[in-house]
Formats: sequence, structure tokens, C-alpha cells
Amino acid sequence: MIIDLHCHTNMSDGALTPNELIDLAIERGVDMLSITDHDTLDAYAHTTAVPSGLNLIPGIELSSRWRKQGIHIVGLNIDLSNEAMVSAVNQQSKVREQRAQEISNRLGRLGFDNCLEGAQRFAHNQIGRPHFAEHLIAIGAVKNANEAFKKYLGAGKVGDIKEHWPDIDTAVQWIRQAGGVAVLAHPSKYKMTRTKLTELISDFKDAGGEAMEVVSGLQIPSVTRDLAKLCSQFDLLASCGSDFHSPDKKWAALGLISNLPETCNPVWDRWS
Ligand code: AMP
Ligand code: MN
Ligand code: MN
Ligand code: MN
Repeated sequence: MIIDLHCHTNMSDGALTPNELIDLAIERGVDMLSITDHDTLDAYAHTTAVPSGLNLIPGIELSSRWRKQGIHIVGLNIDLSNEAMVSAVNQQSKVREQRAQEISNRLGRLGFDNCLEGAQRFAHNQIGRPHFAEHLIAIGAVKNANEAFKKYLGAGKVGDIKEHWPDIDTAVQWIRQAGGVAVLAHPSKYKMTRTKLTELISDFKDAGGEAMEVVSGLQIPSVTRDLAKLCSQFDLLASCGSDFHSPDKKWAALGLISNLPETCNPVWDRWS
């Protein structure tokens, strides 16, 4: 079974349309897929005729905040028409628009004019920092997205605005209200000390979080073993996903993820 419970379409910062993503999932032999766009469910309104061989699990990746740091929480198997979720997504969209304006203002102070208009040219739907990165590349300010995040958009830089995101408790509650399972996304990507990471997982669990990603994209086996240990220690369910954004990123290829360690209790047991 190939199971990929974390990926993006061009409804957020991915490159493919929802239908192109589904086609690619079929081509790769994916059995169970969740499209988890950043703060939007729009992909689910844009998928036409999902083939019966593909079990599509409704999902989302919510932006939230914990101790002044941006944290991503994936919601799986949610009810797409749930009122609390629909209004949460509306709120998140407004935050994104306001945040984009602020990012643009701040970049303007560094001498980069009209960045909002520039970034919007790359956004098909929901706007995010990767669209600003594309604009900064297009005007020759940076060579690639990595440099854009390192200099202007990443943690601690001018374009890193996360003050308006809800706290993790709120994000977890939205997911639970929609009948879904809250999953702490890519725990190893936050570059936290061990102590801080265990405090985050503990707070996440207290908030009602039920799972964490033990496998995120192509990661080294020692990281997987370590995350599996943390997952068992906190008695959480385990999830796995590529965090696929675009076909040219080899370390996050759709459906190409290693199996969960046998010690893990898979999150899909909750709905399979
Ligand atoms: P946002 O949703 O606007 O907060 O932007 C976060 C997104 O930026 C992540 O989901 C990644 O897709 C992307 N991202 C984060 N860091 C980097 C980086 N160093 N290089 C390229 N893309 C990045
Ligand atoms: Mn992204
Ligand atoms: Mn993420
Ligand atoms: Mn993601």
C-alpha cells in the first residue's frame, strides 16, 4: 500500500492543479491520498471524478503559532462541509491576505516595490511566502527560493510574520470539530532543541492532537527512528506524507516515502 497523507496543489503553494495531482497519484500507484493545502479546502471543489482505485481522504494543513513560532497542523479525514471548519478557513484566508500586505510593506522598506502585485502573479489561489520568493527571483533579487527564505522570508527575517495565526489549541479544535484527526506536521523541520520539541508535542497532545508525522518526505532513517520513538512515548498515532509541492523537488516526490516503523500505530486505522 502506498499512502501519502500530505501534499499540495496550486490552490495553495503547489505547482499542479488538483486534477493533475490526482493523475500523478494514480500514475505513482498511490492507494490512499490526502490533499493538505495550506489553509484552504479549495482543491476538493476542483477535483473531478476521482478514480475508484484511489482513496482520497479530505485534509488540510493549518498554519498556527506556538510560543511565537509558526507550527503546521495537518487535519485528516475532516468533514469538508463542517461549519466550524468552513469559517476557520475563511478566517485563515483573511489572515493570509492581510499578512501578504504586511510582507509587501516590509519588503518595500528594503527597496523592493510592489511586491504584493508581483507575488500575486504567481499565486493561483491562496497566497503565501513561496509566491513572494518567486517574485524576488523574477526581479533578480535572489537566485533561488532557498536564498529568498534565508535572506527575507524565513524564520526571524522581515517576511516571517506569524503573529496573526491562531494558537495550536485553536487549530486542533477546528479539526476536531470537523470530525478529523489533528496531526503535528513535520516535527523535525522546526529545528527545535529536544526539550522544546517534547514541550511542543506535550502541549499539542494536551490540546487534543492525536497524531504526528513520523515520515515526512525523503528523510534519513535515524530521523524516522527518533520520531517513531517520540510518537510512542507520547502515545500518538503516526502519519506519513511526502509534503509534495512540485515534480522538480526530488526529496518530496509524491508517493515516494518510506514505510512507518512497525512500532507505530498508523493514523489511518482511525478511518479504515
Ligand atoms: P507560508 O504558508 O506562507 O507560511 O509559507 C510556508 C511555505 O514556504 C512552506 O509550506 C514551504 O512550502 C515553503 N518554504 C519554507 N521554507 C522554504 C525554503 N527554505 N525554501 C523554499 N520554500 C520554503
Ligand atoms: Mn508549502
Ligand atoms: Mn508545512
Ligand atoms: Mn505541507
